[in-house]
Amino acid sequence: MRQEEVVAKIKSEYKNISLEPADNYYWSPSENKVFYVLNNNSIEAVWALLHEVGHALLDHTKYFSDIELVKIEVEAWNKAEELASDLDIEIDEDHIQDCLDSYRDWLHKRSLCPDCDLSGVQVNTKTYVCIFCHKRWSVTSERFCRPYRLQNK
Ligand SMILES: [Zn+2]
Ligand SMILES: [Zn+2]
Repeated sequence: MRQEEVVAKIKSEYKNISLEPADNYYWSPSENKVFYVLNNNSIEAVWALLHEVGHALLDHTKYFSDIELVKIEVEAWNKAEELASDLDIEIDEDHIQDCLDSYRDWLHKRSLCPDCDLSGVQVNTKTYVCIFCHKRWSVTSERFCRPYRLQNK
């Protein structure tokens, strides 16, 4: 099934979800919109789209700590798999694990102190503190999904 068909199906079945073309796949709780890349005909595109729709359907609207974010990602993939089976699409399990791994890597990297490279402590959704040198640094909490490897190429 092509992405355009999936977009059309989601639009007709879930009228409260708005889908809008953008330069990447993500769910924006503040705008209440799922963004997707037009004219992307790979199967991974459909999987990414379903994943973001999963976030929207699960109403992932509040901010979470980095530890909770991994759980949220897993939930969105579970929802994506439900949607996929309704559409008779199969999401590759290795792809999901790859996405979760790259997500964990990204979370790990942003938890490292820019000065001493040791793991910091998250004090709120946007801030980490290093317990060794007491440096504070900010992390974005705007997007649930950082661009996955596939979209980075
Ligand atoms: Zn430090
Ligand atoms: Zn996600």
